[in-house]
Amino acid sequence: MAKGSCLCGAIAFEIDDPGVVVSVGCYCTNCRKISGSQYGVYLQVRHDSFRWISGEDHTATYESSPGNLRAFCRSCGSVAPIATPYGAVRVPGGALDEDPGMPPDVVLFTQSQADWCKTDAASHAFADAGPQDFWAGVIRRLFERGAT
Ligand SMILES: [Zn+2]
Ligand SMILES: [Zn+2]
Repeated sequence: MAKGSCLCGAIAFEIDDPGVVVSVGCYCTNCRKISGSQYGVYLQVRHDSFRWISGEDHTATYESSPGNLRAFCRSCGSVAPIATPYGAVRVPGGALDEDPGMPPDVVLFTQSQADWCKTDAASHAFADAGPQDFWAGVIRRLFERGAT
């Protein structure tokens, strides 16, 4: 299990490690801007492996691109977890206080990488959002029952 929180502590949550299906590093312009870093790190977590401890009602959202909501803390502005349209929870890696047991292993939008960024070692690096069959596999794994 790994706990996470926002900078001010109003938002707190926990995740069960086996529910973390993939950890993604994204170099797209939106992730860079909202994270204030070279890339955003987001864990795709099965919804039944994610629990709010506090602050679910303390988040605000912003639609950074059509249909893609980003959540953040109303007080401190930290990026916050958000339920996705496909039924999982997207958890910002930077909000974690403990090791979720999986490093960022997939890198997206390398074509948008800023000159001052360097691609981290990853088993998958896609120039765009990645092929559909890759994501179909991730979605399958998100909803597998009894998997560890
Ligand atoms: Zn906060
Ligand atoms: Zn992105």
